[in-house]
Amino acid sequence: MKVGHYVLIGLFSMGFISCTSSQSKNNENNTNSKNNIEMKFEKVALPYATNALEPVISKQTMELHYGKHHQAYVDNLNKLVVGTKFENADLETIVKESDEAIFNNAGQTLNHNLYFTSFSPDGGGEPKGKLAEAINSKFESFEKFKEEFNAAGMGVFGSGWVWLAKDANGNLSIEKESNAGNPMTKGLIPILGLDVWEHSYYLDYQNRRADHLKEVWKIIDWNVVSERY
Ligand code: MN
Repeated sequence: MKVGHYVLIGLFSMGFISCTSSQSKNNENNTNSKNNIEMKFEKVALPYATNALEPVISKQTMELHYGKHHQAYVDNLNKLVVGTKFENADLETIVKESDEAIFNNAGQTLNHNLYFTSFSPDGGGEPKGKLAEAINSKFESFEKFKEEFNAAGMGVFGSGWVWLAKDANGNLSIEKESNAGNPMTKGLIPILGLDVWEHSYYLDYQNRRADHLKEVWKIIDWNVVSERY
């Protein structure tokens, strides 16, 4: 819009010299806009409608969780990095190298981007390909993996996350993280993260975190998650 605006001003209201000047301003403006976009962290686009995961996750939870909580983490991060060494850093670098408020909001931005893209209304079933083989090899079976993962999720005291992660050799592990924790801070790569903050399930399951963890497997998008392995 702004670009078009400058071009129109250049074309209609000024002569050649002004137009050149406008063009140069326009280029400068483009560069600034581009940098602003690169600096700005954004929520991942939701790959399904807010009611698509019902009844496992309700529309109301999705609107609050994705629409309000996730937005707040992203907005806070964008404000907090201004004037710091993280101003032009990518999100993963910030998660690995920051602490306190910047870490909390960067971690939650990354965590929720991974989380919300791990679901599909056509999800469920079992992982595919190499991830399926690695899970069977590490946990004996997919069922046993789910049991261990859910137990870890129940074992997170207070707010946090339970993750399936891999190391540089592809070895899988289940990682419990409190608050904004992400296995990247331990040099691991996150494959699947389930949010066990109460805001992720309380409207739908009240205090029954175990019920939420039992149901959520029905909507895991193993096409997406398996590709992260
Ligand atoms: Mn959350």
